[in-house]
Amino acid sequence: MSSKLEQFLKENLEDLKSRGLYNVIDPLESPNGPMITINGKKLVNLSSNNYLGLATDERLKGAAIDAINRYGVGAGAVRTINGTLELHVRLEEKLAEFKGTEAAIAYQSGFNCNMAAISAVMDKNDAILSDELNHASIIDGCRLSKAKIIRYDHSDMDDLRAKAKEAKDSGQYNKIMVITDGVFSMDGDIAKLPEIVEIAEEFDLITYVDDAHGSGVLGKGAGTVKHFGLQDKIDFQIGTLSKAIGVVGGYVAGKKELIDWLKVRSRPFLFSTSLTPADVAASIRSIEILMESTELNERLWENANYLKKGLKDLGFDIGNSETPITPCIIGDEVKTQEFSKRLNEEGVYAKSIVFPTVPRGTGRVRNMPSAAHTKEMLDQAIAVYEKVGKEMGII
Ligand SMILES: *Cc1c(COP(=O)(O)O)cnc(C)c1O
Repeated sequence: MSSKLEQFLKENLEDLKSRGLYNVIDPLESPNGPMITINGKKLVNLSSNNYLGLATDERLKGAAIDAINRYGVGAGAVRTINGTLELHVRLEEKLAEFKGTEAAIAYQSGFNCNMAAISAVMDKNDAILSDELNHASIIDGCRLSKAKIIRYDHSDMDDLRAKAKEAKDSGQYNKIMVITDGVFSMDGDIAKLPEIVEIAEEFDLITYVDDAHGSGVLGKGAGTVKHFGLQDKIDFQIGTLSKAIGVVGGYVAGKKELIDWLKVRSRPFLFSTSLTPADVAASIRSIEILMESTELNERLWENANYLKKGLKDLGFDIGNSETPITPCIIGDEVKTQEFSKRLNEEGVYAKSIVFPTVPRGTGRVRNMPSAAHTKEMLDQAIAVYEKVGKEMGII
């Protein structure tokens, strides 16, 4: 190893460890369901994005196995050479139907969508208005485009309007985009899409919504844009196949011309091998299930409301979430990490999230209830919260 690299790694790893910021990964010995096994211990799982429990659903497993038997395990090439199976086309048709758009394009992940879609359309002569709490993949996608990035205060519509006006009036930019998460993953609040659309219409902005945490959750499953009835007003609807859908992959849904352009100009589509047959078939089955029935969506909300009420009644600060994402705000970073550790010891897996992921002094343990949890599991979790909360003087 180069001595420079060796020195860099040693110093930085030691620094992270000394500040308690070095993340140790716990491998699961079980499927990522409502209960998980880590180090031989069974825990109530409140940390996955598997909102509807579909990651372990028998119907999806069956679809994946059938696809493997029929098409094998790999797509064999990038989409534009000969890695497009009829399954990929069917997935994209299904996604467009699900999202209420003319067309859709699938990518290997939600992260990849943001690498692909932003820079396919925006360049150094353009500007992007970006919510300060946007996901890391949006931030990186914006950087990749070389457009001027203008951050606006989180969900502050006065700030967005002022910055949109300033950008427009400057005459400096060719195109201007506004980009936001549909649901913000650390607090569970929903983007103010009706106001964003109004501002976009006033200043002729391109609209881009990454709905990774909204799809399968809001709008009876169809997502945040549908929740507000704005399917015709949002140019880019981004989603992931890895959260509520339960598999892996991502997509952009929008007008046919936009999708046609992404198919010839977005680099992860052109230069990275397509999703495997099993992933595609399982995703199609998952979307079919969501479109056929709202049963899982309703159970998700029922469980989320149950857990929220339980924690709130105990006296925890659960923030201002409007979605199943349930933060339990502790404040101090060290105390937050200790709280999460104690929950774990008592049988609840809920991760701590601290600065720099969230602002200093707002450390929290984030709970992700799902449709797959039973009332007994949630009661068990609430009882552990009560025990540890009292023991640590938090409630
Ligand atoms: C999780 C997430 C992603 C990444 O999606 P993957 O499919 O896991 O790559 C992208 N954007 C947002 C807003 C997310 O929350």
